[in-house]
Amino acid sequence: MSKVFRFKGGVHPRDRKELSRDKAIEPAPLPERLVVPLSQHIGAPCEPVVSQGDTVKKGQKIGEARGFVSVPVHAPTSGKVIKIDSFPHPLGKDLPAIEIEPDGLDTCADGAGGQEDFASLSPDELRAIIREKGIVGMGGATFPTHVKLSPPEGKPIDTLIINGAECEPYLTADYRLMLEEPEKVITGMRIMKTILGVERAFIAIEKNKPEAIDAVKGVLGPDSREATVVPLEVKYPQGAEKQLIKTIVNREVPPSGGLPMDVGVLVQNVGTAAAVDQAVRLGIPLIERVVTVTGEGIREPKNLRVRIGTPVGSLLEACGGFRETPGKLVLGGPMMGISQYTTEVPVIKGTSGVLVLPRSRVRLEEARTCIRCGTCVRVCPMNLLPNFIGTFASRGLFDQAERYYALDCIECGSCAFSCPAKIPLVHLIKYAKAEIMAKKRKK
Ligand code: SF4
Ligand code: SF4
Repeated sequence: MSKVFRFKGGVHPRDRKELSRDKAIEPAPLPERLVVPLSQHIGAPCEPVVSQGDTVKKGQKIGEARGFVSVPVHAPTSGKVIKIDSFPHPLGKDLPAIEIEPDGLDTCADGAGGQEDFASLSPDELRAIIREKGIVGMGGATFPTHVKLSPPEGKPIDTLIINGAECEPYLTADYRLMLEEPEKVITGMRIMKTILGVERAFIAIEKNKPEAIDAVKGVLGPDSREATVVPLEVKYPQGAEKQLIKTIVNREVPPSGGLPMDVGVLVQNVGTAAAVDQAVRLGIPLIERVVTVTGEGIREPKNLRVRIGTPVGSLLEACGGFRETPGKLVLGGPMMGISQYTTEVPVIKGTSGVLVLPRSRVRLEEARTCIRCGTCVRVCPMNLLPNFIGTFASRGLFDQAERYYALDCIECGSCAFSCPAKIPLVHLIKYAKAEIMAKKRKK
């Protein structure tokens, strides 16, 4: 049993996972059209390598990566390219994407196939496959996985953490994946250990998912030395990278630009591990993922295996539609997810959930004056002063906000969740961060 440590701050929102936690993963119906954005990851967007009118096959590359911090995108099914244009994107603006009309045949592209015996490949060969198959972090950050698996000289990694915490309320996609397909997660972990040449690995799962803990342990076997499964305290944001590293190996990632690799650790989400397994062993690119469609506003919450590019509206239909007048549509969870204005937005590689809250539950409370209670400071896991940063942002004092480490905010939402004055602290801090970054880019 591994000793666990504690991170500072955090909150305990109601998890509401009971809506979907017992729903086995089922395939989402193929929609009438798919919209595959050329920008689905942190880094340079892709260049289209198909044209309007082309026919494509499932798994065929349709967008080529530009630069090292980039990965290609692939056709989620066979069909015809209808249009290459700007379409609504989960980030809240219109961005270039490839629209495909499925032919219903799901004909696979001729591919290189996979390599069951992954240990016979070199780390560079494995990284190249992971890049070519379009794998990115699927916990929401969408950082290209091959880049994370390429630590620079002088930054040796000694620990791999597979993140199955899934601490966001409502979401159960990672839980179902660990429960139903733990062997994919474990094989993905083995592949990443091989690439990094590390001996030590942990699989981190919150204690409120005992069945997932048992399933993962079952694949590892009773005396496994391959990885330690760590049951974590149930506390939000337990699954955030820096907090996970503190909890498991008691190392502090340096503030202001520090990365997990600075303390010899690499963290990968369970979904990413499963995608690495599929890419390397079977040659399957990242063209689908598990998405939790949930919330009190949806008639039949489900965990669906969804083709990338599926419009959210099609998933809502597959879940019986709205239970009552919707008040809020969010991609992701309620703490860190992004509110959407249209059901036309497509699922992308980082979409873990679709959350619908009914209007009756969405309270639009007006922000009041800060009462200086200090709650936001106490719950902030990054040791920030959210009240001060929020005030600076609201007054346009972005240099001050930067001096108060606004850029270190991980946007977990704990401060806004706890604020009795209902001050939209995360929105204000995000605004400050955007202004600070815009100023830095101009320099
Ligand atoms: S300031 Fe940022 S890191 Fe701190 S609680 Fe608020 S959102 Fe989370
Ligand atoms: S929690 Fe809200 S009211 Fe309390 S100090 Fe922070 S901003 Fe002010």
